[in-house]
Amino acid sequence: MAAAVSAAAEARKARIPCSITVLERNDSTAAKVRISGGGKCNVAHRGAPKEILEKGFLRQSEQRFLRPSLFAFTGNDLLALLHSGGVETEARPDGKIFPSSGNAFSVVQVFENLMNEQAVDLRLSCRVTGVFHADGRFLVQTDTGGTLEADAVILASGGVSYARTGTTGDGLRIAGKFGHTVFTPHPALAPVYTVTPFPAALAGVSLRQVRLIAVSGKARVERPGDVLFTHRGFSGPAVLSLSRDIAELHAGGEVRLYADMFPEYETEKLEKILLLQAREHGQRTVRKFLQGCPIAPPAASFTPGEQGTIPTAIVPYILDASAVSEDATWSTLTKERRKSLLSVLKRFPLGMVRKVPLDEGEVSAGGVALSEVDPKTMQSRLQPGLFLCGELLDYTGEIGGFNLQAAFSTGWSAGRHAALTGYPAQE
Ligand SMILES: Cc1cc2nc3c(=O)[nH]c(=O)nc-3n(C[C@H](O)[C@H](O)[C@H](O)COP(=O)(O)OP(=O)(O)OC[C@H]3O[C@@H](n4cnc5c(N)ncnc54)[C@H](O)[C@@H]3O)c2cc1C
Repeated sequence: MAAAVSAAAEARKARIPCSITVLERNDSTAAKVRISGGGKCNVAHRGAPKEILEKGFLRQSEQRFLRPSLFAFTGNDLLALLHSGGVETEARPDGKIFPSSGNAFSVVQVFENLMNEQAVDLRLSCRVTGVFHADGRFLVQTDTGGTLEADAVILASGGVSYARTGTTGDGLRIAGKFGHTVFTPHPALAPVYTVTPFPAALAGVSLRQVRLIAVSGKARVERPGDVLFTHRGFSGPAVLSLSRDIAELHAGGEVRLYADMFPEYETEKLEKILLLQAREHGQRTVRKFLQGCPIAPPAASFTPGEQGTIPTAIVPYILDASAVSEDATWSTLTKERRKSLLSVLKRFPLGMVRKVPLDEGEVSAGGVALSEVDPKTMQSRLQPGLFLCGELLDYTGEIGGFNLQAAFSTGWSAGRHAALTGYPAQE
């Protein structure tokens, strides 16, 4: 829809006679946007494009690719468009931007209205089954039996997760037919399930500001942040962010998860703190120390024994993994047990991970190779006149409005340049 609106605007500006058709397989538009952000739609993230790129896209190749489109159609441009359509927005303290009404549909409505005003021909319940190029024109086949002809085609068919919203990878297959490399879609921003989950009583408990570590053979990936225990495994910001890497690691074999409870402390420093406890608080139980232990405090303000954040419910599992008894005091703790406690605190085992189900990713990673698409125009480098945008491309944003922002920005660039197909660019 963003691509259609920008194509129409560009065509009008450049006085190019142009008719624009949007083909949507569902009987309504933008199914995913309607359910985004729990129905509230985290539509963008506060910050200049450079910050958005750095915060929202962790891989250099993605940042490089998205830079031109995020600068060409920024978060502010998007918000201005929404505001002009009567949708006020507000940023939360964490930078996430939502419509003030808390209603995702209001965002969809702005785009529907703009398409309407610009006489974009929207055809619902119309699934594209194939796109071909012959004699300088595109032929677009649909399941309603018709074939459309076009000078330019924009593939904006989304990722592959949440297939019930209409995203079953049709666009990837079409891009593949034009010779595009399609990296196998993996789930991203997904919860993680473990082979043997922790007891249900822990569901809802959080480990705050740990370093989550996923290991498969010699490969290791990690992410700082909070981890939430669930009935089937884990969720929370660090888990959602790392789920893409975990899915990739799975290709190489089994994956195990660990949490570094003290990411701010090197092992030697943490050992010194434990030794200090042993010397100064010999009669105190290790259990009590852990219960009142700041988990990731700023180094300067760390005071052993101060009220902290290792959840009480987790402490028995730490003791168990370290083979330290419930009533062990620092003075009765052998050096061997102290060492094992130390290693568990730095690498608390969270268990073996099941394969992350593709459909449960809020987005899917993988898709059309970025190197085969011009980042300034979103035009295929293999087939002139074919444009690609949004989640079908091989980038993935973090939680926070980055995925919608990238979809809007790449869509905007694709529309603008598709409208100019066959005409000199109007910079
Ligand atoms: C539950 C959930 C919550 C989310 N929340 C957020 C959030 O708050 N903030 C955020 O930034 N991101 C969020 N996302 C991710 C975000 O919604 C997507 O990344 C974004 O919508 C991708 O935009 P897109 O235009 O590329 O694809 P989509 O929005 O998926 O649109 C693709 C469209 O193409 C249609 N289509 C597919 N194949 C065909 C075909 N053959 N013929 C015709 N039509 C076809 C589909 O029906 C669909 O309408 C969320 C995702 C999910 C699943």
